Amino acid sequence: MAALLLERLGYSPTIYEQAPQLARIGAGINLYPNTTRILWWLGLEKKLRAVGLAPETWLSREWDTGRVYFSQPQLEWEKAYGAPHMILHRGDLQAIMSENLHPNTIQFNKCLAGLDETDGLQRLTFQDGTTADADIVIGADGVNSVVRDILLGPEPPIYTGFVAYRAIFPTKLLGDRGLASDGCKFWSDDRHWAHEDRHMIIYYLTSARDEVYIVTGSPDPNWTGGLLPVEVEMSEIKTCYEGFHDEVQRVIDACPKATKWPLLTRNPLPLWSRGRVVLLGDACHPMKPHMGQGAGMAMEDAAVLARCIAAAGGDYAGAFELYRASRIERVNRVQKLSNINIWLRYPSDPTWCWGYDALTAPLMSASGVVADVRAFKETAMA
Ligand SMILES: Cc1cc2nc3c(=O)[nH]c(=O)nc-3n(C[C@H](O)[C@H](O)[C@H](O)COP(=O)(O)OP(=O)(O)OC[C@H]3O[C@@H](n4cnc5c(N)ncnc54)[C@H](O)[C@@H]3O)c2cc1C
Repeated sequence: MAALLLERLGYSPTIYEQAPQLARIGAGINLYPNTTRILWWLGLEKKLRAVGLAPETWLSREWDTGRVYFSQPQLEWEKAYGAPHMILHRGDLQAIMSENLHPNTIQFNKCLAGLDETDGLQRLTFQDGTTADADIVIGADGVNSVVRDILLGPEPPIYTGFVAYRAIFPTKLLGDRGLASDGCKFWSDDRHWAHEDRHMIIYYLTSARDEVYIVTGSPDPNWTGGLLPVEVEMSEIKTCYEGFHDEVQRVIDACPKATKWPLLTRNPLPLWSRGRVVLLGDACHPMKPHMGQGAGMAMEDAAVLARCIAAAGGDYAGAFELYRASRIERVNRVQKLSNINIWLRYPSDPTWCWGYDALTAPLMSASGVVADVRAFKETAMA
């Protein structure tokens, strides 16, 4: 997202990615109006709607009885916020975003190993021994960030005591009924099955509804698996979700295989940037995923950071201070609430979160004074 927005502002960013290529593997993702608004502004609405799904209903249900805690027609939310809640395969989202970058913006097989400031530039050293120079470095390298470790010293993220089971499988494995055990009434919803200390969310992942996605938040005090996901036996998930509603059992029974992800967090960082290096997204403020806002916060960060860079006219330290001051209150609030895991379980109003517009929100200086909003708006929205 940062690269897409910086290209729109006339910069020439390069993404150095450790993976050999983009692949359609992994997981689903929910994007809410605060995030889809930015993607729509980039002109990606048509492509994203073609592959993803805008669920018709928000549906939160009691884990065993299926009693509805909160049901909301999502079209009403879309009208109120001017952009929808979308569900997508992460691979589809990545593909669409990367297709809209300039050719060669992404350099693959580039695993960052070191950073040094030299001659007014930042030198990046990769594991393959090659180097590259840049005016600034944006560390968007996730919860196990190397850039964060370089800025602040090595420190592993904190395991929260919870894991997420995740699986994608073909809808046809569910048989004739698809997801709905209650007729086709809620064909396009996403289904939150909420228990006191664990939940499961089940939804179709594509506009064709040919893939189903399961994602959970599940206590696991015995996790010893380190910081990366592992394969898991379906029997473990079955045990963890014993007693859940029949519909949940039917989905677990149809699912052939799954993975298990440790849910990691970090305490708030004492700094977000140093010199020409700045952090965003999970590298900076990872969170439990229970508001579906981790990637949302990363994309909002990217939009605000791009506006700050454009407005600061080469004063990168100033741009980074403005960015941090403009973002910190919001990401702290989302991080705290996400950790509690009650978001929209019961009737509530998401406006403070979903109504936020990172492309036009006031930018705050470090002293808390609202900076020249009009000028920033004109720069970023030109
Ligand atoms: C179970 C679960 C469900 C979630 N659901 C949602 C959801 O529905 N909606 C939502 O908004 N968020 C969700 N999130 C959170 C979301 O996945 C993250 O917040 C988001 O991916 C963070 O984006 P990022 O760009 O900061 O980091 P990442 O997505 O982790 O990307 C980091 C990138 O940096 C690369 N990289 C890492 N190290 C190096 C290196 N040394 N050199 C070069 N490249 C490197 C990685 O290969 C990767 O491509 C969920 C998270 C989990 C665990």
